[in-house]
Amino acid sequence: MQEVRPERGVRADLWTEWRGGPTVHCFLCAHHCRIAPGDRGLCGVRENRDGTLFTLVYACAVSTAVDPVEKKPLYHFMPGTRTYSLATVGCNFTCAFCQNAEISQMPRDRGRVVGTPLSPGEAVEEALESGCGSISFTYTEPTIFYEYARDCARAAVKQGLKNIFVTNGYMTREMLNDIDGDLHAANVDLKSYSDVFYRTLVGARLKPVLDSIRRLWEMGVWVEVTTLLISGKNDSPGELRSLAEFLASVSADIPWHVSRFHPAYRMLDTPPTAVATIETALRIGREAGLKYLYGGNVAGHASESTACPSCGTVVVERNGFRVGKNAVRNGRCAVCGTEIAGRWSL
Ligand code: SF4
Repeated sequence: MQEVRPERGVRADLWTEWRGGPTVHCFLCAHHCRIAPGDRGLCGVRENRDGTLFTLVYACAVSTAVDPVEKKPLYHFMPGTRTYSLATVGCNFTCAFCQNAEISQMPRDRGRVVGTPLSPGEAVEEALESGCGSISFTYTEPTIFYEYARDCARAAVKQGLKNIFVTNGYMTREMLNDIDGDLHAANVDLKSYSDVFYRTLVGARLKPVLDSIRRLWEMGVWVEVTTLLISGKNDSPGELRSLAEFLASVSADIPWHVSRFHPAYRMLDTPPTAVATIETALRIGREAGLKYLYGGNVAGHASESTACPSCGTVVVERNGFRVGKNAVRNGRCAVCGTEIAGRWSL
């Protein structure tokens, strides 16, 4: 893995001079950093050089892999297909419970930006060669390597591939407008329904994430939402109800994945979440009107599969990331004909 040399970097988009410069205002994400010359933004990968903002991670991949699309997790988007996963270092959040801190927090924790050169064209080529139907910008936060992700996405569309963001949702409207038409699915991490949780454990605010979920849905992007439940932090029934009601207010068709926390990063002393807590959250989601509810990190649990919201028939059977029976026909339950929301064939 190569260290990014100081002279590397590509002129960034989505920024402007702040009060005539040389300080700049980055509006790629909802932090809206004001960055003085020589400094970097909160994400650690955007640098002001003499009044011009540069991204340090363009075409600089820290991790690539071929995954089942179910691993993102996306359960209602091209099930059973493979997706080419791509990440750079860096993140605009500082989650104390990050499961990928080694690469996401590297620029801040270790002052390092590393990666292997991989152009958008090469990434698309690798995706096609490995039989993938899509590219997923994932593992870290795609917003902070946006210019790279966008150029990959545009090249991918030309080759008939779809694009997926696995994201914390802290993007601006300007960024979403820019990717409109080239993004097909997103799994958005809605970490809590409490602004205090976001401020203290994540280093961000709640509202921009809610706004992004609504905006992505309005753009026609297929959206699924994941919440990692952490005992005593974000799992009170009242908070879960508010969160589920918010999702239902956007659309009852949004699948909600409720995952078990396992000790990680700065929360190694916090115990894993009980399966009973996950089941309570699934019940609350159902009561709020959501049609598709899934437990995450609960291997073998019945909630891994998709049931028709009308007749209860299991229409997509899953075992971990493996898809078994698929009884969705032209977007409908093969037994009763009810529409099953999603993008089943593209
Ligand atoms: S992308 Fe980085 S530099 Fe830009 S506003 Fe977000 S954290 Fe700040």
